[in-house]
Amino acid sequence: MAGILIFAETDAGAILPNFWEQVAAARTLAPQLGSVSVAALGWQIKTDEALRSGAEAVYVLEDERLTEPWPDAHLSALESLCHELHPAMIVMPRTTLGMEVAARLAFRLGGALAQDAMTLQLADDALTITRPVAGGAASATVRLNRAPWIVVPRSGAFTPAEPGAEASAKVVSVQPSISDAALKTRCVSRARQEGETISLERARVIISGGRGLDGPEPFQLLHRIADAIGGAVGASRPPCDSGWVPTSYQIGLTGKMVSPEVYIAVGISGATQHTTGCSSARTIVAINTDKDAPIFRMATYGVVGDWKEVLPAFHAALADRG
Ligand SMILES: Cc1cc2nc3c(=O)[nH]c(=O)nc-3n(C[C@H](O)[C@H](O)[C@H](O)COP(=O)(O)OP(=O)(O)OC[C@H]3O[C@@H](n4cnc5c(N)ncnc54)[C@H](O)[C@@H]3O)c2cc1C
Repeated sequence: MAGILIFAETDAGAILPNFWEQVAAARTLAPQLGSVSVAALGWQIKTDEALRSGAEAVYVLEDERLTEPWPDAHLSALESLCHELHPAMIVMPRTTLGMEVAARLAFRLGGALAQDAMTLQLADDALTITRPVAGGAASATVRLNRAPWIVVPRSGAFTPAEPGAEASAKVVSVQPSISDAALKTRCVSRARQEGETISLERARVIISGGRGLDGPEPFQLLHRIADAIGGAVGASRPPCDSGWVPTSYQIGLTGKMVSPEVYIAVGISGATQHTTGCSSARTIVAINTDKDAPIFRMATYGVVGDWKEVLPAFHAALADRG
């Protein structure tokens, strides 16, 4: 077993932006584990970026059944490739597909799974990782003795690598091996959630509202502020459960994991189920009437105050700035 394989997930043929964080994670162990390769799975894949990732080879696995994020099909194709290449480490994207395939692939290959890895260290034939626990308030150190190691880097933990100027990787076309017997589930239909302007996972600034907003109307103000600063609007679970905003806004354990540069939490108490989804943000700003709200323990900046006073003033200041 040697080398590192990066699973590049695609959407409509384009490799997802998480790929560059995976490349950065792989590079930390490349000196010890050897060559880095990429497995791009999808249909009509645009490989240009992967070719400039510094990888030695880009394995291109194209099949119409890989157009959708269908775990069974991706697992089957990736497992066969791993049996051929025997990588010591496989780096997966932190997406719904990536996390599901990672767990199942670890089981199939008899390896060890590292979800949400923030650091990677190799010594004495074991991989040691750190991962957040308790909603990002603490971190656990986990030693994985058994290769292959299937690693899902934590969003925001590795600074994305930059594409190189040269397309240096060789392209290897592989006919994916997807057995019908492996396809136990089927995607019946897909629908895009309405209401998202900028994707929360890609937004550099997010302003999120919680139960403290007390209804759907204040989210209009959050949207106006988000528009003024080129950000996106998110929410804690209660506004989604109450139908104030679509469920696609939810950030947290059962919602989205985000890692913006700035995360503004308005009327959100800071329950671990929420903060686990935003603890990777570089700067957290909290606005809350309760000075003892747990969100202030992790906030970089805090305003103890009523959003009804703070937000209109903030919006006006943004408007003055032009
Ligand atoms: C299995 C499980 C999964 C979960 N998954 C998620 C998840 O993915 N995401 C998530 O968010 N939650 C999740 N939850 C729910 C979570 O435990 C909390 O209940 C939730 O995050 C609380 O949301 P909140 O902070 O908006 O509301 P609250 O905890 O009620 O806090 C509201 C805050 O608003 C403040 N406030 C009130 N009025 C004002 C005002 N005028 N101005 C400023 N501040 C004000 C209050 O002081 C308070 O701190 C999950 C729970 C479970 C059990």
